[in-house]
Amino acid sequence: IPSPSGVSPFWSAGVADLSPYTPGEQPQIAGLIKLNTNEHPYGPSPAVLEAIRQATGDALRLYPDPDATALKQAVARRHGLDAGQVFVGNGSDEVLAHVFRALLRHGRPVLTPDIGYSFYPVYARLFDIALQPVPLRADFSVNPADYGEPNGGIVIANPNAPTGCALELAAIRALLEAHPTSVVVVDEAYVDFGAESAVSLVPVYPNLLVVQTLSKSRSLAGLRVGFAIGHPALIEGLERIKGCFNSYPLDRLAQAGAVAALEDEAWFEQTRRRVMAARSVLSQGLVDLGFEVLPSQANFVFARHPGHAGPELLAALRQRRILVRQFDKPRIADFLRITVGTPEQVSALLDALAAIVGRG
Ligand code: PMP
Repeated sequence: IPSPSGVSPFWSAGVADLSPYTPGEQPQIAGLIKLNTNEHPYGPSPAVLEAIRQATGDALRLYPDPDATALKQAVARRHGLDAGQVFVGNGSDEVLAHVFRALLRHGRPVLTPDIGYSFYPVYARLFDIALQPVPLRADFSVNPADYGEPNGGIVIANPNAPTGCALELAAIRALLEAHPTSVVVVDEAYVDFGAESAVSLVPVYPNLLVVQTLSKSRSLAGLRVGFAIGHPALIEGLERIKGCFNSYPLDRLAQAGAVAALEDEAWFEQTRRRVMAARSVLSQGLVDLGFEVLPSQANFVFARHPGHAGPELLAALRQRRILVRQFDKPRIADFLRITVGTPEQVSALLDALAAIVGRG
């Protein structure tokens, strides 16, 4: 039988052609400064740990609520909406997979920025959806005027990944107005670090779906909880797909912890503000070292140095036990995507880069 890297005679048609998403490295060794997958540097609210503790024990014998009712209500409460406008899933990656399958299958190309979250092409391929990349402007921003053609949907991360650049609400509104029969998906994984959320537009536009996650601003990447907010008709489409995959995508611990996280507004505010303050220090420090830094509204910055190639910087940082991310893609191969860490981590990173680029 051929090895797993070859083509197996046991596979169904199409499996050999899939190229799964490669997530950022999750190192199995301790002691690294990990700034490569945009995790929050501070832990989740202590109320999360307490809620999870209470959800363990004999209750684990029982299946969780398949509808995650309490969690949908917590999301709805926070955004002033109805629970029927909320879909929840096992991380926003899973939510996005259901979105591609349920809402973006119209026989016309789905428009998305040519530099964006690299999972979108993977979903498109998996579900046989034609994806049409729309080039970013020279300054790496999204130009809404470029999304004019008839389409089977529009998918934009706002702030965009991996650039960190954000669109204003007026631009999202313009897209919704211009394409009333297309679903416009706004992936707001990083929105809580300074961008304007499109959730306020949900009651006005039945074609808008906003996707968010608890992995970033709520510091729960390990719990795997994401959600979508939109018109009940869109949510029902997602529920139908979900119910054909997995009745219980969110376990009891995830549901309990996520509710507690959404209810601790004070912790959320305090920790996201610390990240935004560290982002300013990081951005300025990089500029002082000669880097070009894109304006970021996310918990990471995207930066390149005119005298050093991206892979070279990545390797030199790794040698100093600092992990960041670099993408081997046209136009952005020389950029590093650096997660905003604690002030101590930011300072260690800047010291390391100073030594590498020769200003230390
Ligand atoms: N959208 C974007 C733009 C992201 O960068 C990420 C994180 N890789 C996700 C969605 C998925 O996040 P999660 O599955 O942890 O909710």
